[in-house]
Amino acid sequence: MSQNEIEESLNLLQKNWDIDPVLKRFMLGKITDISDYPIKVKDVIFHIPYLNLEKKYILWKCFWPDCHNCCDRQGRLPLTSDDLITIGKGLKYQKTSEFIKNETLTVTYQEQGPSGQSTTMTTINLKRKTDETLEDDGTHISCRFLDEKGGCSMHPDRPGVCYLYPFSTWLENERGLARVHATYQFTGDCPGFYLSENLVDMKEEFQEYSKIIYQYNMSSNRTNRENFGSVSFS
Ligand code: SF4
Ligand code: SF4
Repeated sequence: MSQNEIEESLNLLQKNWDIDPVLKRFMLGKITDISDYPIKVKDVIFHIPYLNLEKKYILWKCFWPDCHNCCDRQGRLPLTSDDLITIGKGLKYQKTSEFIKNETLTVTYQEQGPSGQSTTMTTINLKRKTDETLEDDGTHISCRFLDEKGGCSMHPDRPGVCYLYPFSTWLENERGLARVHATYQFTGDCPGFYLSENLVDMKEEFQEYSKIIYQYNMSSNRTNRENFGSVSFS
């Protein structure tokens, strides 16, 4: 995402939420004195930004049900092979192939990898509106499954990627073992970030998301092995 897009999202977000000016400057790339603070919680290593001058961590909590901005400004819903089966069934499809044909788009796009490298992804994405086309990919669309109460009509069978936000995750090979890493994605759409001197403030989220992130990565890895998606680094 470009700085302009993040700024645009933050300006929209500020209409409804107070955003800490320090955090806003950070998200716009104007604070550079930052350390990566890795913390291992069960099977996942979280990379938490630490602002050296402010002496504070950037932590996060979700404001749902008071917020559903991530569903209002959905950018892309890549599905895992587990999602294809569960969501297909939830939408009353007898055959997964019919579900894929009618309700998804197969899209290839570039993403920035964990060390800034360009990554080419091909994924099967759930349509966020019934008439979604390839041109809509990556644009902000209010998701068709968001109900009038601000909940997800597919819950608890919503796509794994929806549980993940605002984290971004990846797998690394550590002496022959797959190690899952996670960091935040700062898209400017989430009001849940805050500054704190103490990582303990986010203890519950670390515990809960460690499980979610680990399962998602295993499922996502399986999806690529089963040829329902692919990742290549360049
Ligand atoms: S993850 Fe962020 S944007 Fe989504 S509902 Fe929670 S606070 Fe809102
Ligand atoms: S599928 Fe559900 S959780 Fe995911 S973006 Fe749509 S409404 Fe939100």
